[in-house]
Amino acid sequence: MEIFSYCVPTRVVFGRGALGQLHTLPALGKKALLVTSGGSSYIKNGSFDKLKKELETLGVDYVHFNHIAANPEVTAVEEGAKVGRSEGCDFVIALGGGSVMDASKAMAMLIPQPTDNLWDFANSPAGGKKMPTEKALPWIAITTSAGTGSEVDATSVISNPAVYEKIGVSGCPFATYAIVDPELMKTVPPKFTAYQGFDALFHSLEGYIGCKHNLMSDLVERTAIENIGKYLPRAVKDGSDMEAREKVAFANTLSGYSMVYSSCSSEHAMEHAMSAYHTKLTHGAGLIMISLEYYRFWINKHVCDDRFVDLARFLGKTDADKPEDFLDALAQLQKDCGVDDLKMSDFGIKKEDALTLAKNSRATMGRLYVADPAPTTDEEIAGIFERAFR
Ligand SMILES: [Zn+2]
Repeated sequence: MEIFSYCVPTRVVFGRGALGQLHTLPALGKKALLVTSGGSSYIKNGSFDKLKKELETLGVDYVHFNHIAANPEVTAVEEGAKVGRSEGCDFVIALGGGSVMDASKAMAMLIPQPTDNLWDFANSPAGGKKMPTEKALPWIAITTSAGTGSEVDATSVISNPAVYEKIGVSGCPFATYAIVDPELMKTVPPKFTAYQGFDALFHSLEGYIGCKHNLMSDLVERTAIENIGKYLPRAVKDGSDMEAREKVAFANTLSGYSMVYSSCSSEHAMEHAMSAYHTKLTHGAGLIMISLEYYRFWINKHVCDDRFVDLARFLGKTDADKPEDFLDALAQLQKDCGVDDLKMSDFGIKKEDALTLAKNSRATMGRLYVADPAPTTDEEIAGIFERAFR
């Protein structure tokens, strides 16, 4: 086994009502850049009012930036960083799902830098490949969804549609505090509960079959996969089932650790290419569309048969004895969560785009291919897109 090393320096406060504990933690500054989406879910789920009360108790002032959309774009991050800088904010608070958290950690990095240009720090064909020279601001993650695990990793996935790149920006900080409060997830609609839950599932599945897996990543991934297999259908069916929400939220945070302890694989790189070209595509939905063919590809290569038998068992197929049993378990979970009929064509993706997507994914997110169970060619990856096309 190879040496492995990890450090997640984030204090996590987990459980129903956790947001109400924020005032008990040492304040990170005097004025926060409070980042949310442009929608109203953070008002509907009550988290905005709860947070305002916590900040009042702490004596913290804030300026509200609410221009973050799904698949957050480079321009929104740059705009938010300018607001944070001109308002003299000394820390950042993300109140929202993965898009808001990813944008917030990029802002926390960018605010103190001597440039406004986020893509200077993108390690991609169109990026400047620089590392930040100034220390990032601290930030707090208050997650209102259970999907990206972004509250406990240092990856900030940002889209730059002008150059068709959706990548992880370098040098972003871990959150100082992560508040994971399942009460805040009660109002997530069933469809998005499913998309987000599957995103979390894929973080752990990819880590488990990938070549970077180790004793620590195996530990968190197994528990994450078991909890999602058992509780995601319940959370989708009844959003107020708090036991299910809690278990899925826990699985999601574990899957966030999984990305630090090991790594996602090329499945995530493939989806980033899909949503770099089709910005309306939700990350979790894109992953679901390619997932069965993606895992079938690896099963047919017989590079980690035992691991697939494990995964089938973690998903509840206790009598699994062959890798293909995992595909049955995954297909059943998609059916149970009502996401078994997603089509690429509904999002404008064409079958003939397959090779372009394959090449884009390797050029922009090549580091995930390095974590695959075995090397691949662009043609093989294009073949997965083609077989998954509907
Ligand atoms: Zn993901």
